[in-house]
Amino acid sequence: MACAEYSSHVPSLEELVGVLQKGLKENFADVQVSIADCPDLTKEPFTFPVKGICGKTRITDVGGVPYLLPLVNKKKKKKVYDLNKIAKEVQSPGAFILGAGAGPFQTLGFNSEFMPVIQTESEHKPLVNGSPFAHVNPADGGCLLEKHSEKYHDFGFALLANLFASEGQSGKVVEVQDKRRTGKLNFGTCMTQTLEKHYGGKPVGMGGTFVIQKGKVKTHIMPAEFSSCSLNSDEEVNKWLHFHEMKAPLVCLPVSVSRDPGFDLQLKHTHCFSYHGGGGHYHYDTTPDTVEYLEYFLPAEFLYHIEQPE
Ligand SMILES: [Zn+2]
Repeated sequence: MACAEYSSHVPSLEELVGVLQKGLKENFADVQVSIADCPDLTKEPFTFPVKGICGKTRITDVGGVPYLLPLVNKKKKKKVYDLNKIAKEVQSPGAFILGAGAGPFQTLGFNSEFMPVIQTESEHKPLVNGSPFAHVNPADGGCLLEKHSEKYHDFGFALLANLFASEGQSGKVVEVQDKRRTGKLNFGTCMTQTLEKHYGGKPVGMGGTFVIQKGKVKTHIMPAEFSSCSLNSDEEVNKWLHFHEMKAPLVCLPVSVSRDPGFDLQLKHTHCFSYHGGGGHYHYDTTPDTVEYLEYFLPAEFLYHIEQPE
């Protein structure tokens, strides 16, 4: 697999706390950023196969939107990206990987939003696939959220994904609590813009997990079939997608980069899942007066783009 690598800027957690506290305050009424121990992610609401997000942090973009739009790339449509291979490609075999991607059309027979939550395999650890995926309910156009491993035995995705890899260890992370949104930016955009403003030409990648504890968010799910006609504008894409409003609590898997180092990285991509049947691609909260977020992040040591579209 063709792979571009970039050694990203890794600010100290102390410095990130200061930068984020100031930036997020412009968009949220109540902001508390601190250094904290990563909570045990094997517990609810996360139920990940690992305890934390620490150790050998990497962010990788795989494929990209040009493989999906304006028309699906016929060759790439058939390809399922294996997360074990991705872990090796980013020099971290056996990594724990989370993030956002397109579900494996080849395996499922329909499109879906994929939430990778995977302990990839290594000599010392077996593979554990805790990945949910969300697809459109053919009966009513609503959301169906399922656990991939309950029905299928592969653990790949298709076309595009934005992934955060780590050794899945416990340790110190940046904890962010923000309540009541006073600005126009969604959480992810606010964080990315804050880091872009502060670090400029030194790209900083951030990944981890957050919980929307109160409020509702706007999400989308791709329809079961690829579009047969070319989707050439945001308006046409939005007509094709299924949008939903989903209620808290939602567990989100954010991957973001403050600035593209020159290999066409998607700057932010977040998928979410829940225990009430909701999940999909997170856009923004729709309840600024009541929304509450609790987030855990770490900066990535390296950024990659695997199979970057031409
Ligand atoms: Zn998505």
